[in-house]
Amino acid sequence: MDLVTRAALALDQWSDLQGVKVMRGAEATACYGADCGAAERQILGAIQLQYDGKARLPQILAIARAARVPIYPISTGRNWGYGTALPASGAAVILDLSGLDRILDYDPEFGTVTLEPGVTQAKLCRFLAENGGRHMVPTTGAGPEVSLLSNALERGYGITPHADHFNALSNLEVILPNGEWLRAPFSSLGVPVLDKLFRNGIGPSWIGLFTQSALGIVTSATITLAPHPERTAVFLFSLRSQEDLPKVVGRVRAVLDQCGGLVGGVNLMNRHRMLSMTIPYPKERLGASPIMPDGLVDELARANLIMPWTGFGTLYCSERLLSAVKKEVKAALRGVAVRLVFLTADRIQTLRGALKFAPAALAKRAEASLATLAKSLDLIQGIPNETALPLAYWLSGRRPPPGTQLHPSRDGCGLLWYAPLVAMNPELVNDYTLWVTGRMKAFGIEPLITLTTISSSIFDSTVPILFDRANEAAARNAGNCLQALMEEGRQRGYTPYRLGIDALPWLLGHGGSSLQFVSDLKRHLDPENILAPSRYCLNPELTPQPS
Ligand SMILES: Cc1cc2nc3c(=O)[nH]c(=O)nc-3n(C[C@H](O)[C@H](O)[C@H](O)COP(=O)(O)OP(=O)(O)OC[C@H]3O[C@@H](n4cnc5c(N)ncnc54)[C@H](O)[C@@H]3O)c2cc1C
Repeated sequence: MDLVTRAALALDQWSDLQGVKVMRGAEATACYGADCGAAERQILGAIQLQYDGKARLPQILAIARAARVPIYPISTGRNWGYGTALPASGAAVILDLSGLDRILDYDPEFGTVTLEPGVTQAKLCRFLAENGGRHMVPTTGAGPEVSLLSNALERGYGITPHADHFNALSNLEVILPNGEWLRAPFSSLGVPVLDKLFRNGIGPSWIGLFTQSALGIVTSATITLAPHPERTAVFLFSLRSQEDLPKVVGRVRAVLDQCGGLVGGVNLMNRHRMLSMTIPYPKERLGASPIMPDGLVDELARANLIMPWTGFGTLYCSERLLSAVKKEVKAALRGVAVRLVFLTADRIQTLRGALKFAPAALAKRAEASLATLAKSLDLIQGIPNETALPLAYWLSGRRPPPGTQLHPSRDGCGLLWYAPLVAMNPELVNDYTLWVTGRMKAFGIEPLITLTTISSSIFDSTVPILFDRANEAAARNAGNCLQALMEEGRQRGYTPYRLGIDALPWLLGHGGSSLQFVSDLKRHLDPENILAPSRYCLNPELTPQPS
């Protein structure tokens, strides 16, 4: 019996289960099939777990094993730029966990919250506001409607003090492909509270095995939230030239080392990235060029007061420490950075008020920038919003009508992320930025580069490869560009921290003993290879390669 027939029979069986809603292939494809990266997969159907559907998971897995039908779990399925909701391998049934959206407990003393996969940033934000407002949502740029749990399972990064979302994760409850439950160890020793406060348990720590993984389905976990600090502020600065970029790297490291947890992180953005946040894409001015010619970039950057690099840092501290931290930042950046300013929400409000005295044209432009800054400040204070999502719409300029939720995959946006780790070494950072810029231009793709500190020794760089998704050749070119960046980048010393579904086979080619180890685990835990085949835990014998 072929896979499609086996899946149809399995869908019949799944539809008999309580707490489960089933979609057939065509309906499921319409619901989950669109991908920002233009990847294509065969969606054989979908199982949507309802609020009370968790208890059905052992049966769901038993049916999948018996029918040898792959299932692919998603939490909110908005993994834009990395495959959206599509399975990693050729054909699968989507297991949609968004219906499991309970906040299971919240401890205001320690700031731990235990939640299910469907709990979104927006839902947690409302919950915290109603429960004392002491802690922050670990927001990301992906908007209010994405799951907190899946982002942590993907080891995503955010922009609040707990920027590394995996680091804040503990107390996983997992169902394994064989239908057995796995829970954090202290609960079986009778002290479950410790599982929420100490993530490593006792004995081998297995928590990481279920992140960027296909070894189990995580049904709940605890996240440690950062408390709202007394003061939140941002600082902005500019660099006059590319030559200043390597010089600022050591200064940024010094800021992070000296100010410890008081500086949340620092982002460095090139001119293209800043333009994407400032003006509509100047499509009508490209002429025959596929991307903005250098002269046009110079002109637009000058007109919008954008220098070659812009820095954006966050400060979280007490009132008394704020002035001391500002002094440290000023001292560290002196002589390299220019136009250093510190802003708080109050200050932005005052500036917006003062605009009524400015000439109309200037006031209009300044108001737009200040409004974006105010939204960014909300985001870093743990208030989720859509302010980062318009990036995905920059090339097309076609956004849904005001009041409609932004949803880049549904709205036809073309985007693939190249997200490499770059050691904070001045020469490497310089080489990296020049090389990415040159390679992307050679592919006819706008080079938008951000470098985000994730410690005082490493940047996570995020480079959106934007393309016209309606154009097949452009989609192919974007995929080729990503492949070139991954492989050439590896040879130069940069590799992604996370991969999209079409990029996963690249990992197989460079596996080594680490890949062998997880493949062995996969073979042992999931001999039928029914759970998210080909996702990170590649199994060369069983894994069909996506075309
Ligand atoms: C403009 C823009 C800005 C973005 N900003 C950020 C950002 O700041 N930080 C960031 O990290 N990302 C960012 N993203 C990328 C992405 O959209 C987010 O990471 C998003 O949170 C992932 O989607 P999701 O949470 O719906 O995950 P899902 O799609 O639900 O899950 C992602 C993957 O994790 C696995 N998974 C999910 N749930 C489970 C589970 N319960 N058990 C086992 N496996 C599971 C699945 O295999 C799935 O493919 C951005 C994207 C765009 C377009």
